[in-house]
Amino acid sequence: MKTQKRSKTSSKSLRRAVYPGSFDPLTIGHQDIIERLLPQFDEIIVLISHSANKSYWFSPKERKQMAEKVFEKMGQVRVEIYDGLTVDFAKKAGAAFILRGLRVVADFEYEMGMANMNARLAPEIETLICFSRPEYNYISSRMVKEVALYGGDVKGLVPEHIGAALKRKVKELKR
Ligand code: ADP
Repeated sequence: MKTQKRSKTSSKSLRRAVYPGSFDPLTIGHQDIIERLLPQFDEIIVLISHSANKSYWFSPKERKQMAEKVFEKMGQVRVEIYDGLTVDFAKKAGAAFILRGLRVVADFEYEMGMANMNARLAPEIETLICFSRPEYNYISSRMVKEVALYGGDVKGLVPEHIGAALKRKVKELKR
């Protein structure tokens, strides 16, 4: 097999991956996936997706700002907003990989369907699925929002500033 030469200065040859999701909001589970996979890439782009068919607590801009704060000291992580197909974004960004996380069996069918569809749309882009750590496999943005809504403690489930943002959002929603 031929080995490919990679130059750190040419953006085309960077090992770049896109991690798409709602991130409404980003949780410790998402953060863990990114931090564990980061050594394998030159850059990971956290892609905040925004679908007209889904409802969110936070605007794309709020989700982006919250995620950016988590990775502000990591130059290799960039956060972007996109409302089109992930594969189109990945092609434009020169990313050869799509990253996703898998928590429990219930995630499997959805992730497999999406990976297969993306492979059909763009066979040159590979989806990589990373298993959640067991201690994070029950954490989802949806559950975290539910806990926050009823006044439960979200410490350890989301980064601190996101916990504070959840509290503010709950107050806003209850007004
Ligand atoms: P989406 O609405 O696209 O599923 P999410 O923000 O819920 O967006 O999740 C983005 C990705 O992160 C998905 O692949 C999801 O399975 C994964 N993920 C979510 N929570 C965790 C977690 N606790 N551990 C590992 N992966 C996770």
